[in-house]
Amino acid sequence: MLERIRIVLIGTSHPGNIGGVARAMHNMGLADLALVAPRCEVITQDSISRASGADHLLHQASVYATLEEAVSDCTLAVGASARSRTLPWPMLTPRELADRLPSECQAAASRVALVFGREDSGLTNAELQRCHAHVHIPTNADFSSLNLAAAVQVLAYECRMAWLSQQDVTPAPVADDELVTHEELERYFEHLERTLIAIEFHDPSQPRQLMARLRRLYLRARPEKMEMNILRGILSATEKAAGKP
Ligand code: SAH
Repeated sequence: MLERIRIVLIGTSHPGNIGGVARAMHNMGLADLALVAPRCEVITQDSISRASGADHLLHQASVYATLEEAVSDCTLAVGASARSRTLPWPMLTPRELADRLPSECQAAASRVALVFGREDSGLTNAELQRCHAHVHIPTNADFSSLNLAAAVQVLAYECRMAWLSQQDVTPAPVADDELVTHEELERYFEHLERTLIAIEFHDPSQPRQLMARLRRLYLRARPEKMEMNILRGILSATEKAAGKP
């Protein structure tokens, strides 16, 4: 999905901002950068330093003379603008845009363009009207305009969140060791029961499901070998302290 999303910058005038955009994109897993009639050099010390390691995106960036060329193969184009327009355009919040991305990016030939304007004057009405929708990042109404790279960062983050929500995001168990075997667990339960009897916590004539509940607890935890060693060590030390090894 992320490889089908293109960031289009129109008439950018500061190389540092282009570098900042490259960094924001690479951080979020986007790689397709298109520059329309940039008003500055793309590869400068400033852009490379602001890209801080993502400068390959600057070298790969495509440069076009017009917006039409930059989005000619796109199946959806969305213009980012802080300003509302006299002729209102279909508006999306960044989250609404993100919600649409998985289906918009489904087809192999699909391409989504996120179009950003100039630092000083943003997008013209004509440019916005070449987009299917207008995405507005909700900001302070008295100070609504983000830095270009910051605006790209917000939308790129939403793209990534949409992409992540499609993945199997069940976190893998934090395992740095092998899990214990059934047999090791059974030996632990025997040891645990012996110890609990020795310290008179557990009365086998009145079991009250104690061992079953503890089993459920330990089985749920899926102990690793090292953790099992620690638990066994605690039991041995408990027996020793109780004078009943
Ligand atoms: N002064 C310009 C703003 C330029 S900021 C203006 O009047 O429009 C550079 C670009 O960042 C904008 O063209 C837009 O694409 C994006 N951007 C900045 N703030 C934004 C916001 N709140 N919502 C959506 N896009 C924004």
